[in-house]
Amino acid sequence: MSEAKQNDTTENHDLDISSPATLPDVQDILSLMTNPSETDIALIKKAYEAALQAHEGVTRFTGEPYFNHVFETAKTLARMHMDATTIAAGFLHDTIEDGHMTEKEMEEQFGTDILFLVDGVTKLGKLKYRGMERHTESLRKLFIATAKDIRVIMIRLADRLHNVTTLYGHPKEDKRKRIALETLEIYAPLADRLGIGFMKGELEDAAFEYAYPEDYKKVKELLKQKSKTDQDYLEKVRRTLQKSLAEEKIDVVHMDYRIKKIYSLFRKLKRKNMEIDKVYDIVALRVIVPTVSDCYRVLGVIHGLWRPLPGRIKDYIALPKLNGYQSIHTTIFTGDGGIAEIQVRTPEMHAEAELGIASHVMYKELGANGGNGNGKKLDWIEQLLEAQKTAQGGEFLKDLRMDFFSDRVFVFTPAGDVVDLPTGSSPVDFAFTIHTDIGMHMSGAKVNGKMVSLDTPLVGGDIVEIITAKHVKPTSKWLKYAKSSMAQRRIRAYLQKEGAGSGIGKFWMKG
Ligand code: MN
Repeated sequence: MSEAKQNDTTENHDLDISSPATLPDVQDILSLMTNPSETDIALIKKAYEAALQAHEGVTRFTGEPYFNHVFETAKTLARMHMDATTIAAGFLHDTIEDGHMTEKEMEEQFGTDILFLVDGVTKLGKLKYRGMERHTESLRKLFIATAKDIRVIMIRLADRLHNVTTLYGHPKEDKRKRIALETLEIYAPLADRLGIGFMKGELEDAAFEYAYPEDYKKVKELLKQKSKTDQDYLEKVRRTLQKSLAEEKIDVVHMDYRIKKIYSLFRKLKRKNMEIDKVYDIVALRVIVPTVSDCYRVLGVIHGLWRPLPGRIKDYIALPKLNGYQSIHTTIFTGDGGIAEIQVRTPEMHAEAELGIASHVMYKELGANGGNGNGKKLDWIEQLLEAQKTAQGGEFLKDLRMDFFSDRVFVFTPAGDVVDLPTGSSPVDFAFTIHTDIGMHMSGAKVNGKMVSLDTPLVGGDIVEIITAKHVKPTSKWLKYAKSSMAQRRIRAYLQKEGAGSGIGKFWMKG
């Protein structure tokens, strides 16, 4: 299957001459895919060529050819085990926005599905985080709602990963910081909730340095010092464990260390008052064994060899984390003064931790079709609905329907922050969501620059501005205008207090 594409890069020798750097090899992407069909391969190559042409002669802040950016995006999508359509859309994701290709051309050459994905990615790119802490959850929801298809989110994540890993090339410090914060507040949490561990970790580690430079320097130094000694302890543990597991005839698929990601360490340090000696999993030994019952046998062997720290045995196999993460974690005294964490899991659990939903699809497909390339076309929505049914307490997955958040309306403050409200909400709801004081003293509202009455239903995308005056107080009419229970509660509480006050006054007057 690779015969045809080996000539592929040589076909472009004319382009090779114009740019001295060698072109990224499409083979790097194809080799990451599981059994791509002939159609898949042809599609990927066609998208590669189209992107190469569209971005020809354009360079990025880093001085690299722009094509490298879309190539890396597509490659990350292949690492995420996305299908050929999504990878192709990754190649093309900036061609419309940058005006190199019209929507019509894209539809003619690549079909409606790819056009839909690229359009979605472009729309999503227009949503920006402006740093209002309490509205970040709304912005995450808006991302999902705008995407309409989970593949659009996947492409945007892959795109962001390359943008944030090349932030050093960005000339403006404030912009670097905004992109880094947006990555930490919006993109990484989305990757986490989708269970894509590798994406979450890489996004966070790339952004950390630019979001919080001082903390980054501090934690990096701590990590350097500590990971070395911890690795020495673990090396002894690894050798002893390997021997014992062999004696017990337990197969080991893989055993390695993982060094804690730097941003994840930073978050933990903040919870532990920055005391590094209270973090036991800076380096952890990871043991991957074939079956769930092997996992428990390995745990038995570990606890037979070393004394575990009380309260540190975590059975995420029986009780998975909310994002689906499964593993057994235990922390042991190594006997020579060290403390080490060991994580035990199956290969399926490992894939799930790294890839999230994509891993379900991967394993299920391989099981159902024996790895047959024809069965590879994924209906993500179907898969999500499936995953939603089987998810235990997976709150987030419940919301990932095709009509994501159809019962919500997303509007904006004049500063561009997203506010999410129930459908049918009015400026009254908006005002109380922003701040109780603003709600209490609202004298008028502007929607998209025009004065409106307070009962006007808001429409998605509206920019809403509230005008306040000190003397204004809520009236009983506002109760009818308010749709959200929060606004209603506040208004009712005020009216009751007022009513009670005037009632008492009347009573005394009569008396
Ligand atoms: Mn891009």
